[in-house]
Amino acid sequence: MEKRFVYADNAATTKPDPRVIEAMMPCFSENWGNPSSLYGIGQEAKAVLNGAREKIASLMGCDAGEIFFTSCGTESDNWAIRGAALAGVKKGKHLITSKVEHHAVLHTMASLEREGFEVTYLDVDEFGRVSADAVRAAIRPDTTLVTVMFANNEIGTIMPIREIAEVCHEKGVVFFTDAVQAVGHVNMNLHELGVDMLSCSGHKINAPKGTGFLYIKKGTRVLNLIEGGGQERGKRSGTENVAYAVALAKALELALASIDDLKRVEAMRNRLMDEILRRVPYSRLNGPREGRLPGNLNISFEYIEGESMTLLLDSCGISASTGSACSNNSLEPSHVLLAIGLPHEKAHGSLRLSLSHENTDEDVSYILENLPPIVQRLRDMSPLYHEGMERIKED
Ligand code: PLP
Repeated sequence: MEKRFVYADNAATTKPDPRVIEAMMPCFSENWGNPSSLYGIGQEAKAVLNGAREKIASLMGCDAGEIFFTSCGTESDNWAIRGAALAGVKKGKHLITSKVEHHAVLHTMASLEREGFEVTYLDVDEFGRVSADAVRAAIRPDTTLVTVMFANNEIGTIMPIREIAEVCHEKGVVFFTDAVQAVGHVNMNLHELGVDMLSCSGHKINAPKGTGFLYIKKGTRVLNLIEGGGQERGKRSGTENVAYAVALAKALELALASIDDLKRVEAMRNRLMDEILRRVPYSRLNGPREGRLPGNLNISFEYIEGESMTLLLDSCGISASTGSACSNNSLEPSHVLLAIGLPHEKAHGSLRLSLSHENTDEDVSYILENLPPIVQRLRDMSPLYHEGMERIKED
């Protein structure tokens, strides 16, 4: 097969959709006013901003007043956690999260620990799932916030969010979910789901990077993270990025309009998964077969390093990653893979392929043609592999 470009890292970011770019362009030429200004072009910009907010609210099943635009998923996560923790100090300083959260959550928790909060990090099962019973058992009289992600960015595991929300409400504890990987990929209605706060990032659904929102259910107490001119109803200051709000609303609309196409993405992912596991010995699937994000695939290959694999794949035109994009900067094994019980060696040899609407069956065939020989080439160069094979022969 001829060399081609196959982007298979959609969990890291997605390609901006031309329809999204087109929708936001008038904000640079016509509706460029400051939404806080009282004159015409300011008020026009404000109407465009609020139109985007209303569209998002109707798509997400909540009220427009519950959507706050932010600069990214990381900001939304920081705000929800820090804001709710600080708002709850009269009741207590105990927070609960899981061991498989994104660093936007884990590092915020760590900074709160340094400020005197106590954090319980829940274990997950072998598939990366947090159970509602584990949440119930961890809640104490001084617990103020539980945060468990909607879907894991590395292994795609979808968490029992509705059940966890029920437990939290029974116990009178605020529940936040980082839904950066789930919004647009999993059907949800926020008022029915029952979460108190939820974060979204636009660049995972074909909007530009730097777009996001935080849903805060009416009545939830959250202190501000960013102070200033009082934009976003006094809760998130900074002159609003109207263009990006429009882009996010359009991207969400498009993602939800084509959500049924994710069945095709899932079928491609399943073919990729079954064929890799069949063709490559000493490989294992990380995360569950069912109950995972449709495009996500994470596989560990024994005896090799994920980084070398991604470099060789790149030389064939295939973009993939070893785990979350951020942990790619460090050579530490993924905390998610360690939390599901993988030993360090296996965690090091993991590869994440994340497919989207843009991928085709030809892309899958191209990966299947290139990946197995790359694994074999790396194993042939690996002393660990030869030692392992010797050991297997001796047994
Ligand atoms: N949370 C999860 C689960 C993510 O996957 C990411 C990004 O990869 C983030 C938060 C951070 O979002 P952003 O890149 O918009 O800051």
